[in-house]
Amino acid sequence: ARRIVDAHLAEHPAGGWLDPLATATLLACYGLPLTTTVWARDPHSAVVAARALRHDGHDGRTVLKAYWPDQVHKSAAGAVRTGLRTDRDVRDTYREFTAAFGDRMAGVVVQPMAAPGVELLAGLVQDQVFGPLVVLGLGGTATDVLDDRAARLAPLTDLDLPEMVAGLRAAALLSGRPGSPPVDLPAIHRILAGLSRMADDLPQIAEADLNPVIARPDGVLCVDARIRVE
Ligand code: ADP
Ligand code: MG
Repeated sequence: ARRIVDAHLAEHPAGGWLDPLATATLLACYGLPLTTTVWARDPHSAVVAARALRHDGHDGRTVLKAYWPDQVHKSAAGAVRTGLRTDRDVRDTYREFTAAFGDRMAGVVVQPMAAPGVELLAGLVQDQVFGPLVVLGLGGTATDVLDDRAARLAPLTDLDLPEMVAGLRAAALLSGRPGSPPVDLPAIHRILAGLSRMADDLPQIAEADLNPVIARPDGVLCVDARIRVE
């Protein structure tokens, strides 16, 4: 994890956002469950990646996301396409991205389509006074509309983990109802604990934003993550 951060800062002394591969590797170091994320720099490689993912046991649909450095809101820019079924969908989408974004597009990430669940956000922010805060909230399209968040100073204790979940107004969405089982709460706790360890190890992390983290009874999976170092 330190090597990834140091390598980025050696190349970009002012800091900035890690690229998708560095981000994925850093998350893996802390056991943070990012969905399979394959990097492709031309339409053919994207098709090959999507084919491999299609044989991987999920429902067969894939997602393509155009990537360029310092992008902010991919879906608002038209850089996220979900539910792609065929080689042709993937190839056409890559070409449409190239036409729309031109030379600034460095490539795409290809992911399997995740099953739906409750979309959360989890992350790290630096408080000017107190240092790193671990954040949990309602994510996805509800992020800005509902602004439902709980934040605690790192390092988190074992007590912080359930309290952060309980502190959300959306907590009832996670705990289940008759006929709908609760989401995998221990997996959410592990994400918060992993972020806390990451903050502890790597003070260079200015911001980490996992959004959405899709929570389901059978597990929790992040499909989009950004990490900024400085
Ligand atoms: P951004 O947040 O930059 O707009 P995301 O990668 O979060 O881009 O994609 C936007 C939305 O698309 C997500 O909130 C999620 O609802 C959906 N999405 C993205 N990737 C996947 C995926 N692999 N499987 C299912 N849904 C996805
Ligand atoms: Mg997102």
